[in-house]
Amino acid sequence: MRTPHGPADADFTAAVAAIHRHAPAGRVLLVCHVNPDGDALGSMLGFGLGLRRMGVPALQATFPGDFEVPEPFTALPGLDLLVPGEQAYPEPDLVIVFDVAAVSRLGALADRLPRARATIVLDHHASNTGFGGVNLVDAGAAATSVVAEQLLARLGVPLDAEIAECLYVALATDTGSFRFDMTTPRVHEMAARLIATGIRPGEISRRIFDTRPFGATKLFAEVLGRAELDPAAAAGHGMVWTYATLEDLRRYGQRPYVMDALIDPVRCVAEADVAVLVKQTGEGEWAVSLRSKGAVDVSAVAVTFGGGGHRLAAGFTGHGAPGDVVVAVRERLDQHLI
Ligand code: AMP
Ligand code: MN
Ligand code: MN
Repeated sequence: MRTPHGPADADFTAAVAAIHRHAPAGRVLLVCHVNPDGDALGSMLGFGLGLRRMGVPALQATFPGDFEVPEPFTALPGLDLLVPGEQAYPEPDLVIVFDVAAVSRLGALADRLPRARATIVLDHHASNTGFGGVNLVDAGAAATSVVAEQLLARLGVPLDAEIAECLYVALATDTGSFRFDMTTPRVHEMAARLIATGIRPGEISRRIFDTRPFGATKLFAEVLGRAELDPAAAAGHGMVWTYATLEDLRRYGQRPYVMDALIDPVRCVAEADVAVLVKQTGEGEWAVSLRSKGAVDVSAVAVTFGGGGHRLAAGFTGHGAPGDVVVAVRERLDQHLI
């Protein structure tokens, strides 16, 4: 039976059973997606703190790729649960995965899944492939932390301020600070429960949204300065795009994560429904961020390039020159008008 909101009751029951079976004496590995954002880290660490409160003795949290926590998240509670991917239990008993729609987002850590006795996936991507043993996937949830809070409740773990801060960061990140369409009454009710633990929303928002190094400001100015508007793209709904290279980062002494916030000023352009930000990650390799104001299902576009995401916010890995990546995106936009 499916509850009015979210995953089926039976799936929650199966997840609780798997945790009760393996967590008291087994090795529990929590994993979120590569280049973790606020939802990936916040839902994973918030849930991890909940497991710690339950007395789970062997507990690690990790993510694939560069082991670097973006500066805005370096004050999150539960960071001491984190270990570099190479140090993650090679043969965990239970793996719990957060905010991951497809195994490809787990990079080198994907090998832990077949080696585990049980796997649970907590996610909210409509494109989720159902790769877990138990899949708690709620495409109607604003963030993975919504599912994490529900599972913690079913485990009987009460919210405290540390758990709440993690889940709040996750919720605030994925709702664009409670501005996006997914910001339902349920989201505000959850935020109310979290804030009631005593966390400080103003301080948290300042840290995760409103703080950036001076060099990043200069970098943003340069990258936004080279933005191009294509009003005819997406059947006349318009597309705006720009790109940032590793050389840009080097010149301004910035770390890659600072570019995560750069899509926001790009997507604000009134004349374009679709915003594209092409961020270099390696030689001829680009992390492409797609946003739509509502005319295009950018998740469907991203999927055609091997990526994924949500209808109005998606991404994929692109190859070649940034201009070529954008031309390829532009070609597909018309086919995915909503
Ligand atoms: P971003 O543009 O990086 O903020 O990502 C927006 C959304 O797209 C998030 O929900 C991501 O999970 C998803 N996404 C981004 N990059 C990829 C990728 N390479 N593969 C699958 N999903 C992605
Ligand atoms: Mn995410
Ligand atoms: Mn998410």
